[in-house]
Amino acid sequence: MSEQLDILCVGLSCLDIINEVSYYPEEDMDCRFLLDDFAKYGVNTDHLVEVGGCSCPTSCVILSQTTGSRTIIHANAGLPELSVDDFSKVDLTVFDWIHFEGRNVANVVKMIEVVRKHNQKHQDSKSITISVEVEKAKAELDALIPLPDVLFVSKDYAKFKGFSNMAETVEKIQTQAYPGCLVICPWGEAGASMGREGSELVKSPAFPPTKVVDTLGAGDTFNAATIFALSRGYSHSSSITFACRLAGAKVGVQGWEAFR
Ligand code: ADP
Repeated sequence: MSEQLDILCVGLSCLDIINEVSYYPEEDMDCRFLLDDFAKYGVNTDHLVEVGGCSCPTSCVILSQTTGSRTIIHANAGLPELSVDDFSKVDLTVFDWIHFEGRNVANVVKMIEVVRKHNQKHQDSKSITISVEVEKAKAELDALIPLPDVLFVSKDYAKFKGFSNMAETVEKIQTQAYPGCLVICPWGEAGASMGREGSELVKSPAFPPTKVVDTLGAGDTFNAATIFALSRGYSHSSSITFACRLAGAKVGVQGWEAFR
């Protein structure tokens, strides 16, 4: 009779999460999906820079149906950041507002300079408002704080800087911001605050839906709604309330399909 053998396995335990799709996207097809989506929602992509020879940045998102929380696994295999040269090719005269995502810091600093120079050169026309969102908990984003006219500061970045609520964040960040900068801080279920040095802090509560379904993009929805309202001349108070209402409605539905 053979003897029982004990076998020791040495390695790593891993949770496999399997995404089943009807077919795997062919080369460039993921970019087509993105372009189709922009078109579907009426986003103009005339100034889009397409880069060949690298794969499309992709995120795999795990959404908790119980809490609406999200875990994001992101892969970006080699897509270069937008260059100052590419940005400089855009005719800025048609824009009233330019919003920058807080990333690609060295180049964005230079792009903001391009817009400031444009504003100086065209003092006879309405100047372009510059906004920036600092979202990720990264020290390199500090360099963007003193630059825009409107600054969105996320809860993640605020906590990373040691601030414990939105009022403290707005108050402390104002002292480092561009003169007259409007500092805006959304804070999940607590709503949002905005303020500019020398004027009173404006606040809005959150507007929770009956059931929180999908919080992915709540901050982006809030930012977009705030820019929409401010650029159309709404007051600070109406703008922040509108943005919290829209972001609250968004977290109650899956994706954005319901808003089309
Ligand atoms: P992010 O998605 O970037 O983490 P926040 O969590 O700060 O952004 O949310 C942005 C805005 O979305 C908040 O100011 C609030 O108005 C709204 N919001 C987010 N989560 C909820 C929620 N659970 N209930 C109601 N509104 C929410």
